[in-house]
Amino acid sequence: MENDRFTEWGFVQQGLFLAAGPCSAESEEQVMETARALADDGVGFFRAGIWKPRTRPGGCEGVGRAGLAWLQRVQEETGMKVGTEVAEPSHVQACLEHGVDVLWIGARTTTNPFSVQAIADALRGVDIPVLVKNPMSEDVGLWIGALERLAQAGLSKLGAIHRGVGSSLEMRYRNAPAWKMPVELMRRMPDLPILCDPSHICGKADLIASISQEAMDLLFDGLMIEVHCDPPRALSDAAQQLTPAGFAEMVAGLRRPHAEGGRPEYEKQMSG
Ligand code: PEP
Ligand code: MN
Repeated sequence: MENDRFTEWGFVQQGLFLAAGPCSAESEEQVMETARALADDGVGFFRAGIWKPRTRPGGCEGVGRAGLAWLQRVQEETGMKVGTEVAEPSHVQACLEHGVDVLWIGARTTTNPFSVQAIADALRGVDIPVLVKNPMSEDVGLWIGALERLAQAGLSKLGAIHRGVGSSLEMRYRNAPAWKMPVELMRRMPDLPILCDPSHICGKADLIASISQEAMDLLFDGLMIEVHCDPPRALSDAAQQLTPAGFAEMVAGLRRPHAEGGRPEYEKQMSG
């Protein structure tokens, strides 16, 4: 059954599990306007980056702690669960102090076992859901290792997010879909819920529907999508963010083999 794990963890979601929200929390107005629209679209998990790991210095590095109060307002006004990326113990601490419901570890951080271990140690004794994005390179062992570090620290509500991998050969997408990697993770950890993040794979809003459909066909457990109330004015990842209306339309157009009662494609992938 679809979404069992997320429901057990307290997420309220009808049908496909959807995490959505802006790349970065930029202002209280931007966060609230986007969140209200997404709550109306039936989203259970509102995402927003508070600390942004930029490839080059000087861009939008995130609003920092101040944005956590905006996420609390989202919780109070919309009932959605809220989550953000953590990259070091001080981020974990600030999130726990502000009642953030779910944390995720970004691709750059998953790549470094020292950082993952420091986060795991900071979370010892706090069993909140933690989602781990795949590392920057196509290395399923590093991805599993990060999940194991968190499990060894006593975290039981773990999931994964596939966001593709950097490739100098792939011209169409920002990050190559590299589907074999999440399919291998599904094979090795069949009980682990796994979301697809088409936004960071695609890098462009108009490619998101097709990659989302591929994720549905591979029977991912849900999607994490970047949505902004005014994408052209976004301070980070402007080209890949959907409007709330574009997001709702995209989701409505997805065919969902899960909901249609089978795992045939999945089984083919596993045996192939
Ligand atoms: C993000 O989710 O905004 C992000 C920075 O993603 P990634 O870690 O996948 O690059
Ligand atoms: Mn982003």
